[in-house]
Amino acid sequence: MEDVFNRNLSGALILNSGYEPIKVVNWRKAMILWFQDKVEVLEYHSTTVSSPSRTFALPAVMRLKQYIRPYFSLTVRLSRQNIFLRDNHICQYCQQKFSEKRLTIDHVTPLSKGGRHEWTNVVTACSHCNNKKGDKLPEKANLKLHSRPEKPRWLPNRDLDLEGNRLPHAWRPYLLAR
Ligand SMILES: [Zn+2]
Repeated sequence: MEDVFNRNLSGALILNSGYEPIKVVNWRKAMILWFQDKVEVLEYHSTTVSSPSRTFALPAVMRLKQYIRPYFSLTVRLSRQNIFLRDNHICQYCQQKFSEKRLTIDHVTPLSKGGRHEWTNVVTACSHCNNKKGDKLPEKANLKLHSRPEKPRWLPNRDLDLEGNRLPHAWRPYLLAR
């Protein structure tokens, strides 16, 4: 059993009773909350763990049955890494995935044209697309923006052990503002 438990597994995203993301816990803590009946499981990881008698799919997203008052602000810092995380390391123009080294931040409306440095005006772009775009609006540079940038409601901080620093797929709908 220890072998299974020692694997590097993704944690669970905890939502408040009103579906606001609160934090991420490791899978052990997630199982405890689940067994204590404090949460409802909304999504599962494809990973399972087995005890001698049962196999459990690990919870990926859980919602607290009782509202708790969040003890920290849910503001997401506008940083390079958080922008990449929001966009899943995908260039928002050519839609290809790149490593962090090859990615840049693009201001959709360039700063020189009155664009602001804010969540709704910044996107992940590969250096090729960013060069092509230059100091122009996307349509003027013949580039199509894949999706309209949004302010995320919440993102995990980087010391969380996210494999390859990617968000588990199951979390994304709960983290991006609609
Ligand atoms: Zn690109």
